[in-house]
Amino acid sequence: MKLVSFFSLALLFPFMMSHAQESKPQVIILLGPPASGKGTQASKLAEELKLPHISTGDLFRENIGNKTPLGNKAKSYIDQGKLVPDELVLDMLFARVSQPDCEKGYVLDGFPRTIPQASALEERLAGKVNLKVINLKVSDETLIKRTSGRRSCPKCKEVYNIYFNPPEKEGFCKCGEPLVQRDDDKPEVVKERLKVYKAQTEPLIEFYEKRGEVKHIDGEMPPKEVFQAIVNYVQKT
Ligand SMILES: [Zn+2]
Repeated sequence: MKLVSFFSLALLFPFMMSHAQESKPQVIILLGPPASGKGTQASKLAEELKLPHISTGDLFRENIGNKTPLGNKAKSYIDQGKLVPDELVLDMLFARVSQPDCEKGYVLDGFPRTIPQASALEERLAGKVNLKVINLKVSDETLIKRTSGRRSCPKCKEVYNIYFNPPEKEGFCKCGEPLVQRDDDKPEVVKERLKVYKAQTEPLIEFYEKRGEVKHIDGEMPPKEVFQAIVNYVQKT
């Protein structure tokens, strides 16, 4: 009798565990260098999964715009040209994800950006969520072409890329206006952003790999295929 109940428990146990795993909120982290397309993919994925898409940029804008106590604090750092401390970013993030619409999970975009942020996040989530980390892999060469190749029309706002989507007449928009390059997209600026990414954010890949949580996806595929690969992974696991 005892033996039977032991066996039935042993059989049931993995099932119960996987069920518990499923009912935990699903938190998805998208990693990838600047211009890897992770922002767009994160927002499409959130829509597909019917989960909120939480980007740190939006969190800052909302808190500062609504003059919340956290927003006012953040603004004082930004106004002094200082970086907003990790603790404050985390406070904003956790205030946001404790809202009822995040009960089933959320998709993070632009967070964590550093190892200290990832450690703090891990501490606060501590096994309470089903965490999935996706890394979009894109070569430096492609990233530089995607950004420094970008040209836009100041008049009709049309965006081109001299490598991937060139205008019919070189240097000019279809509306006739000369095209311009944003300062942000100048090669020196792009290279600097990549350097910061490699120093601060790329180590996160290893951080999560050690925990066996990283799915690498080729970010150079067409955006639709990248999206399909992300959805397949998230729904299968
Ligand atoms: Zn134009």
